[in-house]
Amino acid sequence: MSRRDEIAQNLAVVDARISRACEAAGRAREEVRLIVVTKTFPASDIVLLHELGVTDIGENRHPEAEHKRSELGPAGDSLTWHFVGGLQSNKAAAIAAYADTVHSLDRAKVVDALSRGAVRAERVVDCLVQVNLEGRADDPYGRAGADPADVEALATRVEDSDGLRLRGVMAVAPLATDPAPAFTVLGEIAGDLARAHPAATLISAGMSGDLEAAVQAGATHVRIGRSVLGDRPAVG
Ligand SMILES: *Cc1c(COP(=O)(O)O)cnc(C)c1O
Repeated sequence: MSRRDEIAQNLAVVDARISRACEAAGRAREEVRLIVVTKTFPASDIVLLHELGVTDIGENRHPEAEHKRSELGPAGDSLTWHFVGGLQSNKAAAIAAYADTVHSLDRAKVVDALSRGAVRAERVVDCLVQVNLEGRADDPYGRAGADPADVEALATRVEDSDGLRLRGVMAVAPLATDPAPAFTVLGEIAGDLARAHPAATLISAGMSGDLEAAVQAGATHVRIGRSVLGDRPAVG
């Protein structure tokens, strides 16, 4: 089977999973957007995804994301680029030059750095505050996010920063437990945030293993890697 056919087949399966989850949750399919997380996979896969109708691409490491974005050139302009990985304050400004949405704002220092980069690049970057749903020291995705008690202050800082637009929250479910209670908590945090900040309506939650629970809890964006692109080499 060609790589294109393999990805097309996987996309159909994931799309059906999202549709079923929406149905089960009594939500419209259009309420949930698929972000395909392409980390570790080549830019050629992003071209195939684009041809197959995917509009949203997620990356989690700065040099790799920047490289693939420039490899695609103008062809990448019609895609929406999501940065979903841990942010380092010394890289955040550079990320603002190509990311349309940054999902992982978890402390003031990276908010300030991203804002400086956005202003310098004359861009406006959509921002999600990453919420830590459980103190997890074993988080393989880098920083685990802001403490729920700090979300409102961080969100206000984003809203007050030039070049940044507050759009909502993001979380990674705790490992090895039922994700549903954690996603329910995220939904409550998102509801509180949206009441205070009406533009902050996005909830980025759900990965290959737990998208159904995330959709049930109100996710507007699911971030799917393996189920579309296959297994990644183990992270060191
Ligand atoms: C890799 C990654 C994903 C996708 O995970 P899969 O299990 O491959 O679907 C989602 N969110 C973040 C933050 C990631 O780093």
